[in-house]
Amino acid sequence: MRAILILVSALLSLGTPAMSQVRPNTAPWDQPFLPPAPEWDGTSRSLLRPASDPWATDFERDPALDFSPDYAATRAWADRLDAASDLIRIEQFGVSPEGRPIYAIIASKDGAQLDPTKPLLLVQAGIHPGEIDGKDAGFMLLRDIAFYGKDALLDRVNLILIPILSVDGHERASAYSRPNQRGPRIQGWRNTATNQNLNRDYMKLDQAEMQAVRSLIVKYRPDLYVDVHVTDGMDYQYDVTFGFNGENGGWSRSPASALWLDQAFKPAVYAALEAGGHIPGELVFGIDDANPLAGLSDGGLGERFSNGWGSAAHVPTILIENHSLKPYEQRVLGTYVFLESALSLLAQGGDDLRAAIASDRALRPAEILANFESDPKPIATRSFKGILYETYDSPASGRQEIRWLGRPDPVLWQLPFYGSRPTLTLQRPKAYWVPATYPQLIERLRIHGVEMQTLEAPQTVAVEMLRLDDPRVAPRTNEGHVAISVSTVTPERRDWVYPVGSVRISTDQPLGDVVVLLLEPQSSESFFAWGLMPEVLNRVEYIEGYAIAPLAEAMMAADPALKAEFEAKLSADPAFAADGDARLQWFYERTPFYDDRYRLYPVGREN
Ligand SMILES: [Zn+2]
Repeated sequence: MRAILILVSALLSLGTPAMSQVRPNTAPWDQPFLPPAPEWDGTSRSLLRPASDPWATDFERDPALDFSPDYAATRAWADRLDAASDLIRIEQFGVSPEGRPIYAIIASKDGAQLDPTKPLLLVQAGIHPGEIDGKDAGFMLLRDIAFYGKDALLDRVNLILIPILSVDGHERASAYSRPNQRGPRIQGWRNTATNQNLNRDYMKLDQAEMQAVRSLIVKYRPDLYVDVHVTDGMDYQYDVTFGFNGENGGWSRSPASALWLDQAFKPAVYAALEAGGHIPGELVFGIDDANPLAGLSDGGLGERFSNGWGSAAHVPTILIENHSLKPYEQRVLGTYVFLESALSLLAQGGDDLRAAIASDRALRPAEILANFESDPKPIATRSFKGILYETYDSPASGRQEIRWLGRPDPVLWQLPFYGSRPTLTLQRPKAYWVPATYPQLIERLRIHGVEMQTLEAPQTVAVEMLRLDDPRVAPRTNEGHVAISVSTVTPERRDWVYPVGSVRISTDQPLGDVVVLLLEPQSSESFFAWGLMPEVLNRVEYIEGYAIAPLAEAMMAADPALKAEFEAKLSADPAFAADGDARLQWFYERTPFYDDRYRLYPVGREN
């Protein structure tokens, strides 16, 4: 077997690549197949309290052990903090499918009621429980706010920390949950007890955990929502990466908030992280696992993800993806620095952010862009802090594989960057009418926080309804559903009787874009596309051959135009002409006996 060393810097520059002198960074319990990480000794280590400190967190007792407490120990520590500090209280906001309380820790100087004039930071850890950095970082920060002189952070801002959102997944724990990730030693499982990925549930709202956190968001209306993850994928030097829809002036449904994040938030957080010895970077994803130089993408802007939903709902949302190959301690400390910096920035710039949010919430675009997919052409070139790698012939795969070497490339890579582009433009109607026969959808719209009027008496409404021309059922399940896509629809004007309990949903509201994306069947984020209304595709009743044949003959005799249309089809389509059932079906579809609601999408548009 022949190893071929590729010195990436040699490919990308004329300079001689200088090997970094740092020692690779591994722990004795690391999976032996993981690439090493560069040695790290950031000044943020000074944030750690000694193990002898009575308020040392479970993680801090020995940060080199990469320990993160289980659900019970996490709750016990939170309860102890709550009992000892007037600034801290715990609020349960849901119960998981396995019966565990889901709770938040609220840090505030306001007492029982949060002052709505203060900006609010909501930090969510453990939506993917193996990626739990936010819990252990958040506990250190709460402890320092409560007891070690950082309470001034709360003078002009409030903090809510969800230490574990996916509590059941957190307890499906082992050393084998995250093969691409360096610590903690015992990690939770990506999906919930019902095998659902909560970071695909922001629009359809299937799961108890997602419904709970969304009700919490509607209750408290955070000004900034931070969703803490750990990435997978390619190696690079960055330890803390984060991003948001609309970054670097990119397209967003909340452009004013994205501008604030770009101009006020991001540079200051980068500076704070760099001062702590961290290497912050933009949230990017390699487009080709076999070729790190092929380019980077934004990973998609879809509303099923926290950052996509936040952009559509005008809740400024940042997705943190700490880098999976960096040691747990480094990632936790980086997350601490991020969160402390975010609190300071909200205290300083909260008014500006609130003005931006208000501007975004006032937007009512006539056209809603949807169904984003990766752009086929790069939109920019990005400088990138790469890690050296080589390729080798793998007897296991029978092809060349990448081997990351754990040493920073001293030369910046210049990589093509691919954005996302919309493939569908939807028109914003004045309102939608959802019939009472879909109470589960109405309930989900309510959990979203959508305003609606409920009919107390039946009402006949002139609406536009959509006939679904070409529905296609997905060949496999996704998140417990069978998706259905439809590329063309035919509008029909109807006078429809909506029963008691039906709702009229105006799109003239801050969540109007979310409403359009949920209720237009062609939107890939709609309830229909997720497969929540498959019965629309069932045709009911049929007609016997002995009944339709004489009826068809009478129809032809009475309507020469129909007869001509039929004969034209016979001559144009020999397969049709040879298929007696198809010929009779052709007539059946043109009788009033045919199922009028077959493929008729039941949500009406009011234009
Ligand atoms: Zn994740």
